Amino acid sequence: MSKIIIAIDGYSSCGKSSTAKKAAAYIGYSYIDTGAMYRAVTLFFIQNHVSASSEKEVAAALENINIEFRLSTTGLNETYLNGLNVEDEIRKLYVANKVSEVSAIAEVRHAMVAQQRKMAKKRGFVMDGRDIGTVVFPEAELKIFMTADPLVRAQRRQIELMAKGEITDLEDILKNIEKRDIIDTTRAESPLRQAEDAVVIDTTFMTLDEQVDQVILLADMVISQKLRG
Ligand code: C5P
Repeated sequence: MSKIIIAIDGYSSCGKSSTAKKAAAYIGYSYIDTGAMYRAVTLFFIQNHVSASSEKEVAAALENINIEFRLSTTGLNETYLNGLNVEDEIRKLYVANKVSEVSAIAEVRHAMVAQQRKMAKKRGFVMDGRDIGTVVFPEAELKIFMTADPLVRAQRRQIELMAKGEITDLEDILKNIEKRDIIDTTRAESPLRQAEDAVVIDTTFMTLDEQVDQVILLADMVISQKLRG
Protein backbone atom coordinates (compact mmCIF):
# COMPACT_ATOMS: atom_id res chain seq x y z
CA MET A 1 0.00 0.00 0.00
CA SER A 2 2.98 2.30 0.50
CA LYS A 3 3.91 2.13 -3.18
CA ILE A 4 3.58 5.38 -5.05
CA ILE A 5 3.50 6.71 -8.61
CA ILE A 6 6.43 8.95 -9.52
CA ALA A 7 5.79 11.18 -12.55
CA ILE A 8 8.77 12.95 -14.12
CA ASP A 9 7.99 15.53 -16.79
CA GLY A 10 10.08 18.20 -18.42
CA TYR A 11 11.91 19.46 -21.46
CA SER A 12 13.87 17.24 -23.86
CA SER A 13 17.36 16.15 -22.85
CA CYS A 14 17.25 17.38 -19.24
CA GLY A 15 18.28 13.96 -18.04
CA LYS A 16 14.75 12.76 -17.26
CA SER A 17 15.15 9.23 -18.62
CA SER A 18 18.61 8.56 -17.19
CA THR A 19 17.53 9.91 -13.80
CA ALA A 20 14.21 8.05 -13.81
CA LYS A 21 15.87 4.77 -14.80
CA LYS A 22 18.51 4.93 -12.05
CA ALA A 23 16.13 6.16 -9.35
CA ALA A 24 13.59 3.43 -10.22
CA ALA A 25 16.28 0.72 -10.01
CA TYR A 26 17.40 2.03 -6.61
CA ILE A 27 13.88 2.19 -5.16
CA GLY A 28 12.95 -1.17 -6.71
CA TYR A 29 10.27 0.32 -8.95
CA SER A 30 9.67 -0.33 -12.62
CA TYR A 31 10.43 2.37 -15.17
CA ILE A 32 8.35 3.38 -18.20
CA ASP A 33 9.86 5.67 -20.85
CA THR A 34 6.88 7.24 -22.64
CA GLY A 35 9.12 9.26 -24.98
CA ALA A 36 10.28 5.94 -26.45
CA MET A 37 6.66 5.13 -27.29
CA TYR A 38 6.16 8.39 -29.22
CA ARG A 39 9.51 7.82 -30.93
CA ALA A 40 8.45 4.29 -31.97
CA VAL A 41 5.18 5.62 -33.45
CA THR A 42 7.22 8.25 -35.31
CA LEU A 43 9.59 5.61 -36.70
CA PHE A 44 6.58 3.64 -37.95
CA PHE A 45 5.17 6.79 -39.61
CA ILE A 46 8.51 7.48 -41.33
CA GLN A 47 9.03 3.88 -42.48
CA ASN A 48 5.47 3.57 -43.81
CA HIS A 49 5.16 7.08 -45.25
CA VAL A 50 2.15 7.86 -43.05
CA SER A 51 0.94 11.40 -43.56
CA ALA A 52 0.50 13.11 -40.17
CA SER A 53 -2.18 15.34 -41.68
CA SER A 54 -4.39 12.47 -42.89
CA GLU A 55 -6.81 11.31 -40.18
CA LYS A 56 -7.49 8.13 -42.13
CA GLU A 57 -3.83 7.21 -42.52
CA VAL A 58 -3.09 7.98 -38.86
CA ALA A 59 -6.02 5.83 -37.65
CA ALA A 60 -4.99 2.93 -39.92
CA ALA A 61 -1.37 3.21 -38.76
CA LEU A 62 -2.33 3.17 -35.07
CA GLU A 63 -4.22 -0.09 -35.66
CA ASN A 64 -0.98 -1.65 -36.89
CA ILE A 65 1.39 -0.43 -34.21
CA ASN A 66 2.34 -2.63 -31.29
CA ILE A 67 4.86 -1.23 -28.81
CA GLU A 68 6.42 -3.28 -26.04
CA PHE A 69 9.32 -2.97 -23.61
CA ARG A 70 11.44 -6.09 -23.19
CA LEU A 71 14.31 -6.70 -20.83
CA SER A 72 17.66 -7.24 -22.62
CA THR A 73 20.18 -9.86 -21.51
CA THR A 74 22.07 -7.04 -19.76
CA GLY A 75 18.96 -6.05 -17.81
CA LEU A 76 18.05 -2.96 -19.86
CA ASN A 77 14.49 -2.16 -20.90
CA GLU A 78 14.44 -1.97 -24.69
CA THR A 79 11.73 -0.72 -27.05
CA TYR A 80 10.17 -3.11 -29.58
CA LEU A 81 8.00 -2.00 -32.49
CA ASN A 82 5.91 -4.81 -33.95
CA GLY A 83 8.32 -7.40 -32.55
CA LEU A 84 11.52 -5.67 -33.72
CA ASN A 85 14.08 -4.09 -31.41
CA VAL A 86 14.15 -0.37 -32.34
CA GLU A 87 15.90 0.93 -29.21
CA ASP A 88 18.86 2.43 -31.11
CA GLU A 89 16.97 3.56 -34.21
CA ILE A 90 14.39 5.67 -32.29
CA ARG A 91 17.17 7.72 -30.63
CA LYS A 92 18.56 8.97 -33.97
CA LEU A 93 18.20 12.61 -35.00
CA TYR A 94 15.99 11.91 -38.03
CA VAL A 95 13.38 10.45 -35.65
CA ALA A 96 13.86 13.26 -33.09
CA ASN A 97 13.29 15.79 -35.88
CA LYS A 98 9.79 14.43 -36.52
CA VAL A 99 8.66 13.14 -33.12
CA SER A 100 7.10 16.36 -31.79
CA GLU A 101 4.97 16.71 -34.93
CA VAL A 102 3.68 13.14 -34.59
CA SER A 103 3.13 13.37 -30.83
CA ALA A 104 1.02 16.51 -31.26
CA ILE A 105 -1.67 14.44 -33.06
CA ALA A 106 -4.63 13.93 -30.69
CA GLU A 107 -5.35 10.33 -31.86
CA VAL A 108 -1.71 9.36 -31.32
CA ARG A 109 -1.80 10.78 -27.79
CA HIS A 110 -5.09 9.06 -26.92
CA ALA A 111 -3.70 5.70 -28.05
CA MET A 112 -0.43 6.14 -26.14
CA VAL A 113 -2.07 7.41 -22.92
CA ALA A 114 -4.46 4.43 -22.92
CA GLN A 115 -1.50 2.07 -23.32
CA GLN A 116 0.52 3.85 -20.60
CA ARG A 117 -2.34 3.49 -18.12
CA LYS A 118 -2.65 -0.20 -19.00
CA MET A 119 1.12 -0.80 -18.60
CA ALA A 120 1.01 0.69 -15.13
CA LYS A 121 -1.70 -1.38 -13.50
CA LYS A 122 0.32 -1.98 -10.35
CA ARG A 123 1.54 1.01 -8.30
CA GLY A 124 5.26 1.37 -7.71
CA PHE A 125 6.70 2.81 -10.90
CA VAL A 126 8.49 5.80 -12.32
CA MET A 127 7.14 7.14 -15.61
CA ASP A 128 8.74 9.97 -17.52
CA GLY A 129 7.44 12.14 -20.35
CA ARG A 130 5.70 15.45 -20.93
CA ASP A 131 2.15 14.95 -19.61
CA ILE A 132 2.48 12.26 -16.94
CA GLY A 133 1.75 14.44 -13.90
CA THR A 134 -0.86 16.53 -15.71
CA VAL A 135 -2.78 14.06 -17.89
CA VAL A 136 -1.73 10.41 -17.62
CA PHE A 137 -1.50 10.15 -13.81
CA PRO A 138 -2.69 13.40 -12.24
CA GLU A 139 -3.08 11.40 -9.02
CA ALA A 140 0.69 10.65 -8.83
CA GLU A 141 1.94 11.18 -5.28
CA LEU A 142 5.28 12.59 -6.46
CA LYS A 143 5.54 14.87 -9.48
CA ILE A 144 8.85 16.23 -10.66
CA PHE A 145 9.36 18.82 -13.37
CA MET A 146 12.85 18.88 -14.88
CA THR A 147 14.39 21.76 -16.71
CA ALA A 148 17.90 22.86 -17.81
CA ASP A 149 19.63 25.41 -20.00
CA PRO A 150 19.10 24.51 -23.73
CA LEU A 151 22.81 24.68 -24.60
CA VAL A 152 23.73 22.34 -21.74
CA ARG A 153 20.96 19.99 -22.89
CA ALA A 154 22.32 20.03 -26.46
CA GLN A 155 25.85 19.30 -25.22
CA ARG A 156 24.64 16.34 -23.16
CA ARG A 157 22.66 14.98 -26.12
CA GLN A 158 25.72 15.33 -28.39
CA ILE A 159 27.82 13.27 -25.97
CA GLU A 160 25.08 10.61 -25.80
CA LEU A 161 24.83 10.42 -29.60
CA MET A 162 28.62 10.31 -29.94
CA ALA A 163 28.76 7.35 -27.56
CA LYS A 164 26.45 5.57 -30.00
CA GLY A 165 28.68 6.46 -32.94
CA GLU A 166 26.46 9.23 -34.30
CA ILE A 167 28.50 12.37 -34.96
CA THR A 168 26.13 15.35 -34.98
CA ASP A 169 26.70 19.07 -35.13
CA LEU A 170 25.92 20.88 -31.83
CA GLU A 171 23.97 23.58 -33.71
CA ASP A 172 21.69 20.94 -35.30
CA ILE A 173 20.98 19.36 -31.92
CA LEU A 174 20.29 22.74 -30.31
CA LYS A 175 17.90 23.63 -33.14
CA ASN A 176 16.09 20.31 -32.71
CA ILE A 177 15.78 20.81 -28.92
CA GLU A 178 14.46 24.37 -29.30
CA LYS A 179 11.99 23.32 -32.00
CA ARG A 180 10.72 20.44 -29.86
CA ASP A 181 10.35 22.76 -26.83
CA ILE A 182 8.15 25.08 -28.87
CA ILE A 183 5.96 22.33 -30.34
CA ASP A 184 5.70 20.42 -27.02
CA THR A 185 4.68 23.48 -24.99
CA THR A 186 2.29 25.04 -27.50
CA ARG A 187 0.41 22.05 -28.96
CA ALA A 188 -3.37 22.00 -28.37
CA GLU A 189 -3.50 18.45 -27.00
CA SER A 190 -1.91 18.04 -23.53
CA PRO A 191 0.97 20.50 -23.93
CA LEU A 192 4.05 20.22 -21.74
CA ARG A 193 3.45 22.27 -18.61
CA GLN A 194 4.47 22.09 -15.00
CA ALA A 195 1.80 20.56 -12.74
CA GLU A 196 0.89 22.91 -9.89
CA ASP A 197 2.04 20.39 -7.30
CA ALA A 198 5.29 19.44 -9.08
CA VAL A 199 8.74 19.88 -7.56
CA VAL A 200 11.06 21.65 -10.01
CA ILE A 201 14.60 20.34 -10.52
CA ASP A 202 16.90 22.50 -12.65
CA THR A 203 19.66 20.15 -13.78
CA THR A 204 21.89 22.75 -15.53
CA PHE A 205 24.62 22.50 -12.90
CA MET A 206 23.85 19.04 -11.58
CA THR A 207 25.55 15.71 -12.24
CA LEU A 208 23.44 12.65 -13.02
CA ASP A 209 24.19 11.20 -9.56
CA GLU A 210 23.00 14.42 -7.90
CA GLN A 211 19.76 14.30 -9.90
CA VAL A 212 19.19 10.67 -8.96
CA ASP A 213 19.90 11.39 -5.28
CA GLN A 214 17.41 14.25 -5.28
CA VAL A 215 14.64 12.07 -6.77
CA ILE A 216 15.38 9.25 -4.29
CA LEU A 217 15.30 11.73 -1.39
CA LEU A 218 11.94 13.12 -2.51
CA ALA A 219 10.54 9.63 -3.05
CA ASP A 220 11.70 8.56 0.44
CA MET A 221 9.96 11.56 1.96
CA VAL A 222 6.67 10.88 0.17
CA ILE A 223 6.76 7.13 0.87
CA SER A 224 7.48 7.57 4.58
CA GLN A 225 4.75 10.21 4.84
CA LYS A 226 2.36 7.71 3.27
CA LEU A 227 3.47 4.98 5.70
CA ARG A 228 2.79 7.28 8.65
CA GLY A 229 -0.71 7.68 7.18
O1 C5P B 1 11.52 12.05 -23.83
P1 C5P B 1 11.92 12.06 -25.30
O2 C5P B 1 12.84 13.18 -25.67
O3 C5P B 1 12.40 10.74 -25.77
O4 C5P B 1 10.54 12.33 -26.07
C1 C5P B 1 10.49 12.51 -27.45
C2 C5P B 1 9.30 13.37 -27.84
O5 C5P B 1 8.10 12.65 -27.59
C3 C5P B 1 9.14 14.70 -27.09
O6 C5P B 1 9.86 15.75 -27.68
C4 C5P B 1 7.65 14.94 -27.19
O7 C5P B 1 7.33 15.54 -28.42
C5 C5P B 1 7.07 13.53 -27.20
N1 C5P B 1 6.52 13.11 -25.92
C6 C5P B 1 5.23 13.52 -25.60
N2 C5P B 1 4.65 13.07 -24.45
C7 C5P B 1 5.30 12.23 -23.63
C8 C5P B 1 6.61 11.82 -23.95
C9 C5P B 1 7.21 12.29 -25.08
O8 C5P B 1 4.63 14.28 -26.34
N3 C5P B 1 4.67 11.78 -22.55
